[in-house]
Amino acid sequence: MIRKCSACGAANRVPAKHLADKGRCGSCKAVLSPLSEPLDIASAMEFDEVVGGARVPVLVDFRAARFGVRSIPNFVVLREGQVSMQQAGLVPRAVMRSWVS
Ligand SMILES: [Zn+2]
Repeated sequence: MIRKCSACGAANRVPAKHLADKGRCGSCKAVLSPLSEPLDIASAMEFDEVVGGARVPVLVDFRAARFGVRSIPNFVVLREGQVSMQQAGLVPRAVMRSWVS
C-alpha cells in the first residue's frame, strides 16, 4: 500500500500487514502514524492482502456482492480474515466503534 508522508509528501510503500503499525518515512524519517482513516480498496486481490494480513479487527463497508452482500450499507468486521459479525443498514458511529474495540 502507498501512504503519503504528512511531513514531506513523499510516497511510502507500506506492507498491508503493517498498516496498523507506526513507521518512518523513507525520505524525511518523520513518523508515519498507524492508518486511522478509511481505505478504498478496488480489487479482490488488494482486499485479501489487507484483510488477510491485518493483526487488528477490520471494519468493512461493502459495495460488492462478496460475503453475500445484497444491500448497502453493509458492514462486516473481520478478525484474522474471518467474519466475526455482519450488519446491514445505517449504524451510529459509537456502535461501529464497539464492534472493533
Ligand atoms: Zn517524509
